[in-house]
Amino acid sequence: MTTSVMLPDNPTLDEYKKRLAELSERGVTEFARAANADELEAARIEFLGDQRGKLREFQIVLGKLPKEARPEAGRLFNAAKARLTDALELRRQEIAKLGDDSTTRPADLTMPARRSWRGAKHPVTLVIEEIEGIFRELGFTIAIGPEAETEWYNFGALNFPPNHPAMDLHDTLYLSGEGLLRTHTSPVQIRTLQRYAPPIRVLIPGRVYRRDFFDPSHAPAFEQIEGLCIDEGISFVDLKATLTRFANRFFGQRPTRFRPSFFPFTEPSAEMDVQCGVCGGQGCGVCKQTGWVEILGSGMVHPAVLEAAGVDSERYSGWAFGMGPGRIAISRYGIPDIRILYDSDVRFLEQISE
Ligand SMILES: [Zn+2]
Repeated sequence: MTTSVMLPDNPTLDEYKKRLAELSERGVTEFARAANADELEAARIEFLGDQRGKLREFQIVLGKLPKEARPEAGRLFNAAKARLTDALELRRQEIAKLGDDSTTRPADLTMPARRSWRGAKHPVTLVIEEIEGIFRELGFTIAIGPEAETEWYNFGALNFPPNHPAMDLHDTLYLSGEGLLRTHTSPVQIRTLQRYAPPIRVLIPGRVYRRDFFDPSHAPAFEQIEGLCIDEGISFVDLKATLTRFANRFFGQRPTRFRPSFFPFTEPSAEMDVQCGVCGGQGCGVCKQTGWVEILGSGMVHPAVLEAAGVDSERYSGWAFGMGPGRIAISRYGIPDIRILYDSDVRFLEQISE
């Protein structure tokens, strides 16, 4: 609120003109300064109110002026009233456009624009994409398949005899009715062999499920990626050469080794290790003092698997491998707890995003 414009009871014409000019100047300023409809209404009452508005005083005093001064004073009064009324209306329209928001200020066009939020790729996605890129260069294509599978595709066709001890490794999530959630991506090998004739080179990424508790190193759902190569005359040499080339591209020029292993669907089978990148083979906590880190399981596709998928195992042979991109991401980025991969915490993802 502004202080009242002091107007003597019996002013001269000059005093009247001077005070009236001051009043209209202040009124125009107050209207323009009003930030919202409420403030504007308060200013309107102060200056243009019927009962106690400041302009009303000038109307009353108008009748007390000397007779000869009244025409000019009246004209000035009307002009001042018109000026205030116009300023009020102008500000009323401006506020209506601003949406009557009391916090609204004129936009500051010099402020830097907000950056649009783009998110970040998940570390497991980064690992999968890098693996896919390397194998694409080696002539592999990507194949995918269903996550809900039949027992035959998940076990039977992959040479798991009924009640074979290896099935205990896969504590399976069975669906009500029939079917199960696939415990590995290997059923897609069978589906690919059934659908396409050799030569086949496919890379199979996908989510798999195990009946595991969520703990720092286990999860009931995780990503797997495997590869399959089938053609005439494929031998273990091809397996070794291709996987060594992959390891050198992915992990750098570090020594690799193959250890004999067992899987129902390959024969012979081998685990592949890469020399520990932390200690350089000397032995440390990361490699459990062995100097080596296991990266994948592999082997020559068992003839029974080829036959189950309708492929002539006398004519064709091949190899397969499988690995866990989640475990690779954990070791590559030094993630202490596998559960962090499932938190969807953007602050974590942004640290790793490349
Ligand atoms: Zn080590």
